[in-house]
Amino acid sequence: MFFKKFFIGFFLVPIFFSCKTEKVNNNSYDEIDLKVDSILNSMTLEEKIGQMTQINLTVITKGPNKWSSTFPMEVDIQRAKRAIVDYKVGSVLNTINNTAQTPEAWWSTINDIQKFAMDSSRLSIPVIYGVDAIHGATYTNGATMFPQQITTAASWNPKNAYNMASVCAYETRASSIPWNFSPVLDLGMDPRFPRQFESFGEDPLLVKLFGEQMIKGYQGEDNKVSNPEKLAACMKHFVGYHVTVSGKDRTPAYIPDHVLKEYHIASFKRAIDAGAKTIMINSGLINGVSVHASYKLMTEILRNDLGFQGVILTDWEDINKLCDRDKIAIDRKQATKIAINAGVDMSMVPYEYEEFIDNLKDLVNKGEVEISRIDDAVKRILKLKLELDLFKNPTTHWNNYPDFGSEKFEQLAYQSASESITLLKNKDRVLPIENSKAKILVTGPNANTMRSLNGAWSYSWQGELTDSFTLEYNTIYEAFAKKYNASNVKFIPGVSYKKSGSFYDMIENNIDQVLIEAKKSDYVILCLGENTYTEKPGDLNDLNLHKLQLKLASKLADCGKPIILVLNIGRPRLISEIEPLMSAIVNIYLPGNLGADALVDIVYGDINPSGKLPYTYPAFPNSLSTYYYKPSEVQNNSQGAYNYVGELNNLYEFGYGMSYTKYNYSNFQIKNDTLNVNDSLIASVNLTNDGKIDGFETVQIYSSDLVASISPDNKRLRAFKKVFVSAGETKNVKFKIPVADLAFVNAKNEFIVEQGNFSLSVGPSSGDLTSIPFYIK
Ligand code: BGC
Repeated sequence: MFFKKFFIGFFLVPIFFSCKTEKVNNNSYDEIDLKVDSILNSMTLEEKIGQMTQINLTVITKGPNKWSSTFPMEVDIQRAKRAIVDYKVGSVLNTINNTAQTPEAWWSTINDIQKFAMDSSRLSIPVIYGVDAIHGATYTNGATMFPQQITTAASWNPKNAYNMASVCAYETRASSIPWNFSPVLDLGMDPRFPRQFESFGEDPLLVKLFGEQMIKGYQGEDNKVSNPEKLAACMKHFVGYHVTVSGKDRTPAYIPDHVLKEYHIASFKRAIDAGAKTIMINSGLINGVSVHASYKLMTEILRNDLGFQGVILTDWEDINKLCDRDKIAIDRKQATKIAINAGVDMSMVPYEYEEFIDNLKDLVNKGEVEISRIDDAVKRILKLKLELDLFKNPTTHWNNYPDFGSEKFEQLAYQSASESITLLKNKDRVLPIENSKAKILVTGPNANTMRSLNGAWSYSWQGELTDSFTLEYNTIYEAFAKKYNASNVKFIPGVSYKKSGSFYDMIENNIDQVLIEAKKSDYVILCLGENTYTEKPGDLNDLNLHKLQLKLASKLADCGKPIILVLNIGRPRLISEIEPLMSAIVNIYLPGNLGADALVDIVYGDINPSGKLPYTYPAFPNSLSTYYYKPSEVQNNSQGAYNYVGELNNLYEFGYGMSYTKYNYSNFQIKNDTLNVNDSLIASVNLTNDGKIDGFETVQIYSSDLVASISPDNKRLRAFKKVFVSAGETKNVKFKIPVADLAFVNAKNEFIVEQGNFSLSVGPSSGDLTSIPFYIK
C-alpha cells in the first residue's frame, strides 16, 4: 500500500507540474488527495509554513505602511515579492483602506498576486484569497446586499438563506474571490452582544437549519467548489463566541461541556455534515481557556468527534493574542507553538508574517512542533486550493458573471426582506394605511440613511461608507416619497447620529419642527434604532434605546397622531418606555438595500407581513432570557412579588409576529401518544385564515420534557412550517418529528432521550401555544 502511494506520487510530480493547464474540475477526491501528496512531498519546510500564513492585503499593496494603502488598489512589487515569493505566504484577506472595490479592481489585484505565487515561485501554488462577504459581497461595489442573517432568520424560510449565499457566492467569485468567512453559526442568544445581528438568533434549530442552507448556497448542493459560481464557506466562530458573561465582544465565557454540546456545537455539526470546507475559531475564552489554545476544542471535539476534515483558520491576530492579550504565552513564539499544536492550520496573522513564519520554522526545527502537524495542516490547505480549482483558474473573471448586481438578484433580496419584516403591534388596525393620499411625516435618525439599513460588513467593516455606495437605492424616506405622491411625504430627522467620533452618540436635530409637521400629518413614521457597528466598536453599556430617541418618541406622542414605530436594529434595544405610546411597531432589523421598499409595501398593504422574531424581545435590562429558560427562572421572590423571566417579563416572545389577517389554530392532534425512542411523532393541526387577506403563517411546534435528569428547558422549538393560506381557507399542516430530535445532553455529556412525560405544543409563537401530552417509553 505504502509502496503504491509512493510510486504514484513519485510519477505524478513531474506530470502535474509540466501540465499546468490540465483540468482538475473532474478529478475525484482520491485524485486530489494524490496530488496533494505529490506536492507536499516536494515542499520545503519554508514552503509549507508559508501555506499556513494569511496576510492582510494592505501588507502587499502600495501605501505608506503595511496597515494602510493608497487608492487605487495596486500590488506593490517589492512587498509582494517579499511576502509571496521570499516568505511563500499562501493566503491573503480583506480589502484595502477598509472599502469596497470594483470587480475589475479585484480581478486586477488578485491576478497580480497570483502571478507572484504561480509564475515567480518554485512550486506555482496559487494564493487563496478570502473575505467577509456576510450578507452579499461586502467589499464589492455594485454587489447585491441582502438582509443580514438575523433578518433572514426572521423570515422563518431557510430558502432565503440559501438564496443569499448562492447570490453572494456568484458575486464574490465575480470579484475573483473563492473563499468567504461566512456563515456565522454562533448561537445569538444575548441581545447585548454586538454581533447578534450576524447570527440566526437564539434558537439552536433555526441556526442549524439556516446555517445548513448557507453552506449549500455557497458551496453548491454537491459541494463541488471548483464550480466558478460557488466558493468555500467558512463556518465561524467555533464555538460559543456570543455568550460572554459581560455581553461584550471577546470577553470570557463560561460554558459547561453539556451546554456547549447541546446548544452551541449542534449548528457546526450540521454544517460539517453538509460539507463545509473551512472553519474559523472563536477569538475569546471559554472557562478561562483561550479557544485558540484549546486542543480539546479544536482537535478532540472538532477533528475527532465531529470529523471535520477541512481547514481550521484563526480569527484576526489570535495567535498573537495568546501572548499579547490572554497572557498564557511568554512570547509570540510560545503562542504559535500552543496554537499550532492545539490544531490551527492557518494563521490570520495578518501583519507580522515574518515573525510568525520564522517562529514556526524555529519551533519545527527544535522539535517543539512536529513536522507531522505541519504536514497535516498543509495537506488540508492544498486540498482546498485544488478543490477550488485554483491551480487551473487562480482567478475568476468579472466578465463571465453577467448576473452580477442584476435585478433578478435584487428581487431575491427584496423577497427576503419582505418575508422577514415583523409586525409587533398594530393597535386598532392602524396598518395597513389604506389612503394613498395620506400625509406622512418620516422622522428619526434612521429615516434617511442606507447605512443603518445594511448594518456593518457593508462596503466597509463598520458600514460607515454605505451611503456613498448606495445612491440608487431607497432610504425609508425616499421609499415613502416614491410610493405615491412625494409632496405628501415630509422628512425631518428630529435626532441624528453624530457624524464623527463615537458610533453611538446622537444629537438633537430640529425636534420642534418635527412636532409642528407631525400635527399637520395623518401618520408619523418614526424610524428609530441603531447606527452600524460590529465587534468591539459595538459593545454596549446600556441596552435601552438612546435617550434622545426616546425623547423624540415621547414628544411626538403628545401630538395625538398615529405613530408607526419602525425599528431598524441589529439587536433588540429596549423600548418599554415608549411602546405604549406607539400605534404600530414594525421591526425591520437590518434589511439591506431593498429593505425600505419592502417596508413601504408592507405599510401600504401590498404585502401582508409574515416575519416572526428569531429572538426574545426583552422588556427590562435585568430580565434577559431566551424562550428556553429553566423552570427555576420563574418563581416567587421573598416579598411575594413575582420575579419572572420568560413570558411576563418580555416585551415580545420568540417566534412572535403579526399579520394583517387572522389565523385560527384548531384540531391539534398527535397520532400516537406513547412512543419509543426510535419512533417519530406524527402531529397535525388545522390552520384557518379567518381574515379577508391571503397570507403566510409560520406554524411552530415546541416540545417540553416534563421531568429530566437535568432540569429541563421550559420548551424547545422542534419544527416549523411557513404555510400560505388564502383568505377563508383551512389547511391541515402535518409534522413528522423523530423522537431522537428531542434529546438533550445529560450530565455525562451524552445526548439522551429519557423516558417519561412530555408535551407537544403548537401555535403562532412560543408564547401562544396549545399543548397535548405524550409519553416516551
Ligand atoms: C472577525 C471575523 C472576521 C475576521 C476577518 C475578525 O475580527 O471576528 O469574523 O472574519 O475579522 O475580517
